[in-house]
Amino acid sequence: MDAHAALSEIAFWLERDLAPAFKVRAFRTAAGAIAGLDPAHLEARVASGTIERVKGVGSRSAEVIAEALQNRVPQYLVTLRANRREPMPDGLTSARALARTARIRGDLHTHTEWSDGTTSLESMVEAAAALGREWIAITDHSEGLSIANGLSPDRRSEQISQIADVDEARNDIAVLRGIEVDILEDGSLDGSETLLDALDIVVASVHSKLRAPADAITARMLGAIEDPHVNVLAHCTGRLVAGARAPRPQSAFDAPAVFEACAEAGVAVEINSRPERQDPPDDLVELALDIGCLFSVDSDAHAPGHLDFVRDGMARAADLGVPAERIVTTWPLDEVRTWAARRR
Ligand SMILES: [Zn+2]
Ligand SMILES: [Zn+2]
Repeated sequence: MDAHAALSEIAFWLERDLAPAFKVRAFRTAAGAIAGLDPAHLEARVASGTIERVKGVGSRSAEVIAEALQNRVPQYLVTLRANRREPMPDGLTSARALARTARIRGDLHTHTEWSDGTTSLESMVEAAAALGREWIAITDHSEGLSIANGLSPDRRSEQISQIADVDEARNDIAVLRGIEVDILEDGSLDGSETLLDALDIVVASVHSKLRAPADAITARMLGAIEDPHVNVLAHCTGRLVAGARAPRPQSAFDAPAVFEACAEAGVAVEINSRPERQDPPDDLVELALDIGCLFSVDSDAHAPGHLDFVRDGMARAADLGVPAERIVTTWPLDEVRTWAARRR
């Protein structure tokens, strides 16, 4: 097995299981460290016991590399694959996996190391392509969310040109220029008209004052939905159901009013697939469905392995009776582009 592929897939499964960041980083760093190296050079290093002298390769990664060079699947990876409810060996392309993900065409909410994600834009796109996605929006945080390393206008324009380069370089997946923009307290967005005009996808979220009175939060969301740039209302209740910060109760707001505004404006209500969010809860998904909203089943990935969360979100949507045609992330790229630009 290719040693780089083995290290990357180990990191992917650890991320999928929300393993501690340091544990994942060891494998991602090692994968990066050997990425450009000739296999013969790696073999010589393993034979002479000097593989750990390659900067970024620790003892665990060294074992993985040695096993992979013997042309077998490293034991650590065998175990991770076996622990999956649905193992996806051979480059994540088992028939069952493909069948279940066949209708997941894209993802409208993802992060990279440009804001608070852990990996490069290229590795996120690479993983999305390996999962069979046809398109992906990169939506790093807006400037005001400094805790998440939100992008200044200068960094944003640098990122926009990097996205264009990556998009240009690939013919298997389209990469859309996006943002997760903060909805400010007055309902306006944390980004200038010029900035938002330069993007394909705008995902809007409330990240502060989640305990404010219902009418304040409602007005805040209605303000954002009215903005013609906005395409998706993300993790609308802000609840956390698992993890260190949980439980965090859902924000109180006038859900019928907010979803009616979304339905009228064609703004998709996000079904956030992260295991600790699963937002909105079932009753609100059902309400939005009754009101006639579109949905966007997103990963909110902060690492490549998180992109696979979408399968859980899709399973929830299916259980709740959301038909595929109401889910924009199952649409082909040209339909998504038309939908996203129609209010601009
Ligand atoms: Zn968010
Ligand atoms: Zn996010």
